[in-house]
Amino acid sequence: MLWYVAVFALGELVFGASMFLILRHNLYDLVDDGLESQIEDLKNFLVAQQKDATPAKLREEMAAIYDHEHAGDFLEVHDQSGELIYRSSFLQTHELTFSQPDQVNRPLLRTRRINGEHFRFAFEKLNVDGRVYTLEMGAPADDAFETLQLFRSYLLIFALLLLLVSAGVGYWMSRRALAPVDALVRTARDISGTNLNRRLQTLNTGDELQRLTDTLNEMLERIESAFQKITQFTADASHELRTPVSLIRTEAEVALRRSRTESEYKESLLQILQEAERTTLLIEQLLELARADSGRGSLVMQSVDLPEILRSVVSSWQQVAAARNLQFSTDIYKLDVSVMGEPTLLRRLADILLDNAFKYTPSPGSVRLALEVREETAVITVRDSGMGIAQEEQEKIFERFYRVDKARSRGEGGVGLGLAIAEWIVLQHRGAISVESQPGEGATFRVELPLIVVDVQSPLLSQ
Ligand code: ADP
Repeated sequence: MLWYVAVFALGELVFGASMFLILRHNLYDLVDDGLESQIEDLKNFLVAQQKDATPAKLREEMAAIYDHEHAGDFLEVHDQSGELIYRSSFLQTHELTFSQPDQVNRPLLRTRRINGEHFRFAFEKLNVDGRVYTLEMGAPADDAFETLQLFRSYLLIFALLLLLVSAGVGYWMSRRALAPVDALVRTARDISGTNLNRRLQTLNTGDELQRLTDTLNEMLERIESAFQKITQFTADASHELRTPVSLIRTEAEVALRRSRTESEYKESLLQILQEAERTTLLIEQLLELARADSGRGSLVMQSVDLPEILRSVVSSWQQVAAARNLQFSTDIYKLDVSVMGEPTLLRRLADILLDNAFKYTPSPGSVRLALEVREETAVITVRDSGMGIAQEEQEKIFERFYRVDKARSRGEGGVGLGLAIAEWIVLQHRGAISVESQPGEGATFRVELPLIVVDVQSPLLSQ
């Protein structure tokens, strides 16, 4: 607001000063024109005088004419020897400091103030047939001066009024334009973790403010859903942790209720150990996801040979397959397939998918791990002949804590976090994960990871 008033005032100042200067120039020009024509008359008079006329004669001639003419009211003429030819009665009483003109036939024009009145004076050297006269001739300029004074007062009054009005209107307009911002600030101040569902008032102004509120509302939407996910995650995690802990407690309490045989104690301790192992696994997975949620800063991606990673996990699963009486086959691409990745996470991804395949495939059945290369993508597939997943469940299984059959999955040791972790890993590698399945006919999980593209034309390679 202050800047606006300052710029406006500066504009007024520049405008007013230029108008004043232009008007003064034009008004003085009018007076000067009159002066110059009177000088022209005087020149004609001097030309008409005899060449050998004495100063006394000239004095007499001039007095005869100029004593009765207005043109002579403020006139003083000297000849080239400095002798006074004519001096009006006004100039006899008010002597002027004489400005000696240095150019011949070009008047030097000055404004003078005498006795509170304003005059324009022309000082000039006149060359009349070789004789040089020095003259000063004045004309009253009070009218011009008064007009200028009046103009300046009007200008000042109007400029001040205009400044006040524009400041007032500007203030009102800026208040009006920024009023919604105040409302936004008030609402935004009230929004906290407990009322994240509140939104800023939507505006229909079609301007930056509307875009700002819309964007902030979208941001609140995202924050709310993230917040809800975290709250849900915490609630689910606590619930999942409570189950094994209460199982351990119950097992111990029941065992301690009366004295037992050694084998009974052993049995109880085994149960407790199993639950403790499950709890450890759950806590590890929770930690893994918490780390994932806190950002990808710690991931150090490097070029990874995918077939090698897969082969390194296969051997331990071969033992599991043998123990569970399942067929396990692999078809891993023989050549080097490099992707940008984190080896531990990629191993973890393969383990999660194989773990599920073995968990949800009853004996007799088969599990197959394959790696192929299609265009610029490495495709890992884990296919099993197990129970499969119904169509409507297929999207949900990647959600945290989602299990198709809670009781059975828990029995198998899962808490519903494996695929959530797998999806996070795949996304970190800029890949995609999908599932194809028919209930009762097994499931196929497919992971696609972008290959490191080697440009054959690259000058580095051709060197
Ligand atoms: P969990 O640790 O319970 O296995 P996941 O997130 O790995 O959790 O899987 C979520 C759910 O998806 C599982 O509870 C299971 O019902 C289903 N699921 C995952 N993989 C398979 C599969 N290969 N065959 C059938 N169902 C599966």
